[in-house]
Amino acid sequence: MTSLSGFLDWLRRIFRRGDKDRSSAGEASPADIARRLVEMIRQTQPEEFTCEEVFALLDQFADALERGDDVSALMPMVRGHLEICADCKEEFEALLRMLQGRAANPQRS
Ligand SMILES: [Zn+2]
Repeated sequence: MTSLSGFLDWLRRIFRRGDKDRSSAGEASPADIARRLVEMIRQTQPEEFTCEEVFALLDQFADALERGDDVSALMPMVRGHLEICADCKEEFEALLRMLQGRAANPQRS
């Protein structure tokens, strides 16, 4: 199975591109690559969430709200996407209405 080394080669090509200062430094070590991957993930902005990811988060968000958990940690991740995506915003508002309706009528199911 060579998929991991192929993946590492692919990453090396990507990271070497435009990296002129270090062109003489040889290949990036796996540790370098891991460090850069972490950096890339850290730089990912909330608005880069896909609708699929936001939908999954909305489920967690609803569960947390129902349990009465603090949702402030989840919220920034979802909010960035909701600001630019009308579809997910609609879905989120429908979810909130549903939760509020359930809270207002706890006997009904
Ligand atoms: Zn969306």
